[in-house]
Amino acid sequence: MACMNNTPPETAALQTLHTIFGYEQFRPMQDEVVDQIIGGGDALVLMPTGGGKSLCFQIPALVRDGIAIVISPLIALMQDQVAALHQNGVKAAYLNSSLTSQQAAAIEQQVRNGELDLLYVAPERLMMVRTLDLLEQCTLSLFAIDEAHCVSQWGHDFRPEYIQLSILHERFPNIPRIALTATADEATRKEIIERLALQDAKVFNNGFDRPNIQYRISENSGNAREQLYRFIRNEHDGEAGIVYCLSRKRVDDTAAWLSRKGLRALPYHAGHSNDVRQQHQERFLREDGIIIVATIAFGMGIDKPDVRFVAHLNLPKSIEAYYQETGRAGRDGLPSDTWMSYGLNDVITLRQMQEGSDANEAYKRIERHKLDAMLGLCELTTCRRQSLLRYFGDTLDEPCGNCDNCLTPPETWDATVAAQKALSCVHRTGQRFGVNYLIDVLRGSDADRIKQFGHEKLSTYGIGKEHSAIEWRTLYRQLISHRLLNVDIGGHGGLHLTNESRPVLRGETQLHLRKLTKKLSAGKQRSKTPFGKTADTKFWDALRDKRKQLAAEQGIAAYMIFHDATLMEMVDRRPQTLDQLGLISGVGAKKLEAYGDDFLEVIAEYGNEVSDEIINDTTDITIQLLCKGMKPLEIAHKRELKLSTIYSHLADAIAQNKVELSDVIGLDEKTLKVIRFEIEQSDGGKLKPVFEALGGEHDYGVLRCVKSDMAIGSG
Ligand code: ADP
Ligand code: ZN
Repeated sequence: MACMNNTPPETAALQTLHTIFGYEQFRPMQDEVVDQIIGGGDALVLMPTGGGKSLCFQIPALVRDGIAIVISPLIALMQDQVAALHQNGVKAAYLNSSLTSQQAAAIEQQVRNGELDLLYVAPERLMMVRTLDLLEQCTLSLFAIDEAHCVSQWGHDFRPEYIQLSILHERFPNIPRIALTATADEATRKEIIERLALQDAKVFNNGFDRPNIQYRISENSGNAREQLYRFIRNEHDGEAGIVYCLSRKRVDDTAAWLSRKGLRALPYHAGHSNDVRQQHQERFLREDGIIIVATIAFGMGIDKPDVRFVAHLNLPKSIEAYYQETGRAGRDGLPSDTWMSYGLNDVITLRQMQEGSDANEAYKRIERHKLDAMLGLCELTTCRRQSLLRYFGDTLDEPCGNCDNCLTPPETWDATVAAQKALSCVHRTGQRFGVNYLIDVLRGSDADRIKQFGHEKLSTYGIGKEHSAIEWRTLYRQLISHRLLNVDIGGHGGLHLTNESRPVLRGETQLHLRKLTKKLSAGKQRSKTPFGKTADTKFWDALRDKRKQLAAEQGIAAYMIFHDATLMEMVDRRPQTLDQLGLISGVGAKKLEAYGDDFLEVIAEYGNEVSDEIINDTTDITIQLLCKGMKPLEIAHKRELKLSTIYSHLADAIAQNKVELSDVIGLDEKTLKVIRFEIEQSDGGKLKPVFEALGGEHDYGVLRCVKSDMAIGSG
């Protein structure tokens, strides 16, 4: 197998990836983008959140001569990236309004002296004559324009200063430019190209999908908060998450309630003082496992990679908003959940807010359309991800298998007759009553109000006893969602018929609707830690505590020391030496030097009560992928683990007779004989002499597997 043994010569880009960032390989598309920029070309990069956009310019910045200028719209994001780069030993700084003029002057001097590899600047700062003149005096490696969709006048993040960025091309025509965004619909893409003069740029489009995020939407039948609590406790205990609510009051109430139940929840909304907001945001970023309960004001510029869940206690008003908010989960690529509960009141409130606003008719029409699309997503009975991606002009050929509808397909029922009753009750009562009243009539309640209006004499009085009040509420919500009923604007939620309701009333259209789900948490029960029930949680917690302590000493966020994925690989591999630790994904040279000993100590203390089951969990995944026909290298790519890790899984699997040597490596018998001979010769079965004796022709992983195989043969 040539692909395994002849590794291509390491390029400067790959070397930077390995030594500075500690990652084994590029993700799909990253390498192509990096090549394009290193080669001096322009690029427009469309990658979903968490896709790994930063490396696309950070690596060329380190490989090319000179300083890279990164334009970023948010001060918080700049500070974050610069702090993370410092952790990796990269010389980076930022220039923005948070600096005193003295501090700024010092940075400018560093720029002039050629001491920096990356400089982050706010767009308005960049456009100042002083800054542009400064850049004229330097060797520039590239311009990176982050969050490039801010140039779009129609988007929600429009920043007028971004429009002026086209002058970069005029003033510095030979410096490569890379524009990056996660908002990549056709219209925005065109606008970016035009406004930034990127007509010659190569476009790299990685789609929108966030495969590690699970989507779940359930209906609120009155106990949403309790459901939320159970969701967090069962699936995300001790993990960081965001809970979105529509109103400030609901934010405060929910945060207080969750805290009373023993969770670490903090409120965040525009009604709090700056201090409080700052403090809560800081704790969310720096500590492990804080839950922020917030209005949609929270989230812009939050780059926290390990947000494990995003929950909505209210309906967002568009799919764009929903996707942006849920997109804050799982930036680090680890499995994450989104959870939403919505109900009839949400639908009514949003419809009323919209119709009652002072906006012009054209604007309202667009908003109406957006809310309809959102409601369509909620009432959907097929794959949510397919529908979401379709909305953004992306396609997914197969249902995703990682949304509630895929995992527990909802039941549907023929709701035609019930809908006729519900609609006709609206009609008979004069198209001015709200849902609760209509349900009372349908179910034949003897409330005084009904008698006052004489509605107990109506033909629809008491014709709906076969369904519970909750079922009727669900049906009314669906009728409103599907625009078979409209809500009065100013009134008290009075409903009236629409053009679409007539065919249903006349029996010309059939209605198949989603059945009310009895069991509301549709997701797979996931364990509290990433390792399954049998995991060595103590070890994991000890690693996290160490990380927290190191972060606190420097006043930085815990994830800046190491990401969860890196700690998880430590649990998985239990490295015993600095060299072994350095092989873990996310451990670059600088971090190894700074934190290596600290973590080895923890591993020595907690990591040696080896639990076979932990190893089995991850080994089993590798075995499954192998059985699907994937090669070790492909498995390493897919799992973002080192190739050596995969080989040691496979060596274990061979030793346990779970797979055969020939499943793993495709070497002929003659070659195998030679390897076996060398292993037999080697003192104590050490592999280094074998590797050397064979002239480095076979990967250590391959040798380990052969050795495992020999052990069962002889044992
Ligand atoms: P984006 O800016 O696209 O949202 P980031 O650049 O923040 O994404 O990257 C998301 C996460 O993925 C970060 O934690 C980053 O360290 C990690 N990452 C990026 N590229 C790689 C890679 N090649 N191998 C492993 N992890 C990577
Ligand atoms: Zn799906």
